[in-house]
Amino acid sequence: MAEQISYSGTAGFDYDGYDNWDLSDFPTGYVCPKPGTSVKCFTGGWRSMRPIWDAEACTNCMLCWVYCPDSSIEVKDGEMTGIDLYHCKGCGVCVQECKFDALKLISEAEALAEEKEGE
Ligand code: SF4
Ligand code: SF4
Repeated sequence: MAEQISYSGTAGFDYDGYDNWDLSDFPTGYVCPKPGTSVKCFTGGWRSMRPIWDAEACTNCMLCWVYCPDSSIEVKDGEMTGIDLYHCKGCGVCVQECKFDALKLISEAEALAEEKEGE
């Protein structure tokens, strides 16, 4: 019989202040100990590019929602409400698919700098 391995996983890992971490501070991967745990896994930290949404230009066509490989387009009552940056990996597929110039891709560093400016 195979040895039972128990994983603590990284789902409960404390990611506070991750944007100031050194590369060596990041865990080397993620173990899904059971189905359905990916929703708890913070993968936004893998992102080097960030999609920026223009709500005014958005027509709620939902193309980005259909194509996002990470289910990171947030929708409520049939309308787009934002982007789930906890899971979005910045692949840019949504930006490529949007026909209404409602999404653009900027570097994560630029996005973080803009966030800090707004504080
Ligand atoms: S950049 Fe990629 S992962 Fe992020 S919302 Fe767009 S399609 Fe989804
Ligand atoms: S593809 Fe563009 S216009 Fe369509 S819902 Fe997404 S952001 Fe809005």
